[in-house]
Amino acid sequence: MRTIRGRLTFAFAIAMGAALVLFAGIVLSSSRRSAERRMQARVLNAAELASRIIEQGGTGVFGGVIVSEGGQPNQPLLSQGIRRLLGVLPGYLIVSDSLRVLYESPPVERLSDRDRSRLARASIQAFSPDSAAGFLTMDSTRLFVRMQFERSDTRAPSLRVLAAENADALQLHRLDLFTPILVTLPLIFLLSVIVAWGLSGANLQPVDRLIDDLEAIQDGRSLHRRLPVESDENELDRIAEKINAMIARLEGSFAGLRRFTADASHELKTPLTVLRADLERAMGSPNVASDQLPALEEALAETARMADLVDSLLTLARADEGRFDIHRERVDLDAMVRDVADTASMLGEGAGVTVTLGEVVPLVVQGDPVRLRQLFLNIVTNAVKYTSRAGSVAISLEQRGTDAAFIVQDTGLGIAAADLPFIFERFWRADRARSRGGERGGFGLGLAIAQWIAHAHGGAINVASRLGRGTTFTITLPATRQQ
Ligand code: ADP
Repeated sequence: MRTIRGRLTFAFAIAMGAALVLFAGIVLSSSRRSAERRMQARVLNAAELASRIIEQGGTGVFGGVIVSEGGQPNQPLLSQGIRRLLGVLPGYLIVSDSLRVLYESPPVERLSDRDRSRLARASIQAFSPDSAAGFLTMDSTRLFVRMQFERSDTRAPSLRVLAAENADALQLHRLDLFTPILVTLPLIFLLSVIVAWGLSGANLQPVDRLIDDLEAIQDGRSLHRRLPVESDENELDRIAEKINAMIARLEGSFAGLRRFTADASHELKTPLTVLRADLERAMGSPNVASDQLPALEEALAETARMADLVDSLLTLARADEGRFDIHRERVDLDAMVRDVADTASMLGEGAGVTVTLGEVVPLVVQGDPVRLRQLFLNIVTNAVKYTSRAGSVAISLEQRGTDAAFIVQDTGLGIAAADLPFIFERFWRADRARSRGGERGGFGLGLAIAQWIAHAHGGAINVASRLGRGTTFTITLPATRQQ
């Protein structure tokens, strides 16, 4: 759950789940309460109806209420007419006086003896001036019982009516609801989580777009671009506005920095040229003392290095400013590669490194010959520079698909895997101490310039290296056509 979409859906699922469980609980308990109320009403009805029948019987309507068995006034029975009428009523029904049961409905007769006598006792022993109600747990079942006292003072003894209904039905009622709830609620849950996932995805799409747009602006050269802002009411648009303002400020400072580097390099060029000319003149003068010569030579070498640095800085600063238009013309790469290989051979001779020219396929590109030569030279000089004596450098030009591939393979020092991602950064050198001064003295700008030239031609530089084993640089450039 690391994405906002995942977290939103998860939070929604939890809220939805809790709401559904709560809903199910409320539905179940309220339906149980209403079923209970309905049952109580039914039992009350039955009890009242029974007492009404008995009351009517008292007026002699249904053939009298009580008939004495064998003329025994203390052993009364309910008359047949009343019994028949009571038999029509649903549920459990007992009519008794304070001593014994006078009538039991068929469901009571079907109860076990124990349950039957328990119910009879409840009816006989119940004492209340009014009606009473409650649950009675039997062996086989649980009953909701309602007592009704017949208080007709015209008859003695007064009668009591017990009506009851099976309370287990309530449980069953709950089960009835349980099944649909168990099926529908998980379905609703699942559907709503799917909808939530879809909706959050749709609502987060502008965030994805914002991330894509930002990614496109990430590199320093795209700072002129801005994020699209549709209105200022939307939170994301407000964020985009703030980011745009920040990018504008960054663009300003970057531009200032580039301009400063370009201007400073440019300003340094002339004094350095003058200095170089002066030093050369001084060295050539017959009046110069021989002990001053080494110092003058060193000064000249350092001035040359500084002039190189200023040149590289100016190249990069102009490239950053977009002030370097790559001048495009037809370039025969094979001829250029042969030429570069010759230069490399000369460099290699001085350094004790063998330079070999392998396969050279005739290929043509559209590009700037000066810049392309600079690119190739940067790579081959590095190869010679970072290869020890008795090592070798192999140069070739191949065709790879529609691209021309310039490959320089050396058996030199190699580059550690951890260093590879940084080699194209400005002023980066694998081992500053190793390359400082002497023949390997560099500024760490050569590869940055090489990469810029390759990119400006729609190409790329790839490097594969193993420390101590050697390095292979491959420069690919889109070839216009084969010869
Ligand atoms: P430098 O002026 O130091 O040569 P580059 O930008 O040309 O600067 O190269 C950056 C760094 O990459 C070098 O300092 C060196 O450590 C490493 N490097 C470049 N080419 C090679 C190579 N062929 N073999 C080993 N290391 C290399």
